Amino acid sequence: MNDQPLTDATSMRSDLCGSLRITDVGREVVLCGWVNGRREHSEHLAFIDLRDRSGLVQCVVDGARDLRSEYVVRVTGTVQPRQEGTVNDELETGEIEVRDCTVEVLAEAEPPPFPMHERTQVDENLRLKHRYIDLRKPRMQRNLRTRATVNSAIRRAMESQGFVEIETPMLIASTPEGARDFVVPSRLKPGSFYALPQSPQLFKQLCMVGGFDRYYQIARCLRDEDLRADRQFEFMQLDAEASFVTQEDVFTFINAAIRAAAEAVTGERPGEIPTMTWHEAMERFGSDKPDLRFGMELVELTDLFSETEFNAFKADCIKGIRFEGGAEMGRNKLDGITDDVKSWGGKGLVWMKVEEDLSLNSPVAKFCSEAELAGLVERLEAKPGDLLLLVADARRTVQMLLGRLRLQLGRPPVNEGGFNFLWVVDFPLFEEIDDAGNPTPLHHPFTMPHPDDVELLMTAEGEAFLDIRSQAYDLVLNGWELGSGSVRIHRGDIQQQIFSLLGIGPEEAQAKFGFLLDAFRFGAPPHAGFAFGIDRLTALLAGEENIREVIAYPKTQSGADPMTQAPSAIDDRHLDELGLRLAPQTD
Ligand code: ASP
Repeated sequence: MNDQPLTDATSMRSDLCGSLRITDVGREVVLCGWVNGRREHSEHLAFIDLRDRSGLVQCVVDGARDLRSEYVVRVTGTVQPRQEGTVNDELETGEIEVRDCTVEVLAEAEPPPFPMHERTQVDENLRLKHRYIDLRKPRMQRNLRTRATVNSAIRRAMESQGFVEIETPMLIASTPEGARDFVVPSRLKPGSFYALPQSPQLFKQLCMVGGFDRYYQIARCLRDEDLRADRQFEFMQLDAEASFVTQEDVFTFINAAIRAAAEAVTGERPGEIPTMTWHEAMERFGSDKPDLRFGMELVELTDLFSETEFNAFKADCIKGIRFEGGAEMGRNKLDGITDDVKSWGGKGLVWMKVEEDLSLNSPVAKFCSEAELAGLVERLEAKPGDLLLLVADARRTVQMLLGRLRLQLGRPPVNEGGFNFLWVVDFPLFEEIDDAGNPTPLHHPFTMPHPDDVELLMTAEGEAFLDIRSQAYDLVLNGWELGSGSVRIHRGDIQQQIFSLLGIGPEEAQAKFGFLLDAFRFGAPPHAGFAFGIDRLTALLAGEENIREVIAYPKTQSGADPMTQAPSAIDDRHLDELGLRLAPQTD
């Protein structure tokens, strides 16, 4: 048999509803789809809007009384221009309609549990319980198609750069991304568990040892963490790794994939993706994932107040932000944001309103000198009507508080301001010092320290560990962390050393990652990699706040699937087979 030509026609239909145009007038067409709605025209005639994945078309049907919303029908009729005055500009097929229709009901339908138009806000549980109906709506149709476009653009970009797709297993031993594992009990070895991969991290590094010097995979990752708007238990990422490369090479590969995906969706290729050090991002934006769509940068004021008489400003660090036009804010709102800052761990917030003559109106202005106030106006480039917001505290605290406040006051809606990608580089190697005095890794324990800080790694003690930089980098888009990666440690001796700094002794290291350390003894190339979240990228490209809108079958905020009722109990026989007994529930 010959290959079918590439067309939307099938044995059951000739065209897609949404594809018909004025140029089709006179053609007899056969359409299949769902009844989107029905309007009576006269005693016998009715209009039905027929819907398929491509859109809607109006059909004029004689005797349509039995046709209800969401019935699945097959309509045969002739394309005709609509009458003067009835053309619908909002519909792509609005210049035509299908007349003289005969209708065959392919499946009846109960009334849908929620309205099919996009105007009504439907409870999310209800949407997810009947996701198959929700998926019929244009928004979900568009979003899932956007997602498919992103995936295929990424695949093409990676493959054109010589990357090979390799699938890694789902049933594995634990991976070290720092979240909680989902585990699967073993039937053949009762009492033992597989972990589901938090990422393919170790396997992709082993692919490098195995001589595949450019690996990629659109990988499913599972992490048992609390769910949020940008987080699900399972998510997809472009996972990549390459050998004999530096950080810059990784950026080149990933930039190509990201730019191709953005271009495929928006029609515009993003420009060069800029780079900023972690240190600069924290100083200027108070965040390691700065949203560059707007200004309101954190301005350094510490030196301005070095001699201050004002006790609240005798601090390690003082920074401020300027909220343009914010002087209109009333007392209640000002108290509100001050409370917010306190609830985030701040001691307080100083606000100053900029008057017409550039004097500063604030309850604490009287504690500041003329020079200090004039300095504030100059540094923050204050204009009449602005609101200046100042925080004094430990440097990291000031950054965090003003970073959050900046977002709260200035962040544009998700679908405004274009796409501002950014590479954040030179992340610290360690995040904090834990109670046992060991530093904890910010990325994962396979991240190579910055070459200039290796010596410090050998000599550092206590808090000094936090100054050690790594060769880890993040990709950020509009304030969302899209993904992370790093140059890896490829030598067993350095890896052992990092483990011991992290408080992972030789035995534990051997037990958890012995296979990796073993592999490194057999010739591991220098390698580096990256992974970015496809859910997050797609959501932003689709203008959605919540990644659930770009996932076909997501979980609710509480981790449930209202449609399949997962997670659910399993029967005793199954438990026995797995050698499991349930502890009594405490609540
Ligand atoms: N495995 C890391 C992650 O999933 C990414 C990487 O370092 O390549 O976040």
